[in-house]
Amino acid sequence: MPDTILVANAGSSSIKFQVFDIVGETSGLDLNLKGQVEGIGTRPRLIARDAEGGRIADETFSVGDLPDARAALGQLGHWLRARLEGGFPAAVGHRVVHGGPAYDTHVAVDDDVLTKLEALVPLAPLHQPNNLLPIRAIRAMQPEVLQVACFDTAFHRGHPEVADRYAIPERLYRDGIRRYGFHGLSYEYITRTLATLAPEIADDRIVVAHLGSGASMCAIRGGRSIDSTMGFTALDGLPMGTRPGQLDAGVILHLLTNNGMTADAVQHMLYHDCGLKGLSGISNDVRDLLASEDPRAKLALDYFVYRAGLALGSLAASLEGLDVVVFTAGIGENSSAIRAAICRRARWLGIDLDEVANAKGARLISAGTSRVRVMVIPTDEERMIAHHTLEILKRRRRH
Ligand code: AMP
Repeated sequence: MPDTILVANAGSSSIKFQVFDIVGETSGLDLNLKGQVEGIGTRPRLIARDAEGGRIADETFSVGDLPDARAALGQLGHWLRARLEGGFPAAVGHRVVHGGPAYDTHVAVDDDVLTKLEALVPLAPLHQPNNLLPIRAIRAMQPEVLQVACFDTAFHRGHPEVADRYAIPERLYRDGIRRYGFHGLSYEYITRTLATLAPEIADDRIVVAHLGSGASMCAIRGGRSIDSTMGFTALDGLPMGTRPGQLDAGVILHLLTNNGMTADAVQHMLYHDCGLKGLSGISNDVRDLLASEDPRAKLALDYFVYRAGLALGSLAASLEGLDVVVFTAGIGENSSAIRAAICRRARWLGIDLDEVANAKGARLISAGTSRVRVMVIPTDEERMIAHHTLEILKRRRRH
């Protein structure tokens, strides 16, 4: 069996995982399998597929058998060991939502790093604890195995100060209240892919639109993030499946002081009941909204497209121009209708869509006459994590 790298993306109700084989002289990465334990706490189910998409696991469990993420991890470890014939991965890469102000790169985890990452829990209370759970579990079981924390924030840490700040008192900035930006692993993957696919535009002014159930946009130049629509948390910027995007802070104050809502209730609403779901009252899924005749579904999609257009204009301003737009993630990769609607609103920026190429889902969807090149590139955050993990593993092995 070749050496493998395990990638873990642990959320509140699911643990997604992928195993990559380390192959060849140049240490490439071949996908071996991918899957998830979903429905943790409600209807636990372990599903996995091999590299060709063939089903290799589909087991459901009672909540009594797998009551929480810890139990789900134990079950997953058991299944992976059997699948990998007892061989433990050479290294494990983890998606960690927050690297705080300090981490502008991905790091091997030791006790000191783990302590620093624990201290960031208040900055991402819903995500960080879940992300750290498998790191701690594997350290307890196999302390010698290299584990790498890959941060959603790292790619954005080089923002100019004006993009990193809120206009709030200085001491709050020092306390870590900054515009971190997220989806960094996706933006990094797209940036690297562009450098291979179209090296001639690598230094152009690029906006990547990561439009999935979480959505954000990032302005990129010279391979670096210049600004992003997300800020202190992953609530800001574009409307999302269930999150509102940009919202006047006064609304939160009003809900807390005049509306009798507790902070917990407001938090729950902001993460679970807003966005496309809140506006439409129907669904958080663009496919359902596109298929619906209900005017509220149309309003939700119109709002999404309108705000995406505003964000595109705003990030073009941060770049002082625009040369390339890349669509990615679930909506960006799959919905020609949403891409077309956003591009129509952005004609003034020099975007001229090739409707046929867009409908076909081609990689290049702008017309020959378009001043701005528009592309669709599937993202692969897990491969990015595997890549960073492998780089750190190779460095270790050299020493
Ligand atoms: P992600 O978070 O990147 O996996 O994206 C998930 C979201 O992508 C779903 O909630 C859908 O709204 C959207 N999506 C996936 N496939 C399609 C499709 N064919 N057309 C429109 N939206 C899609």
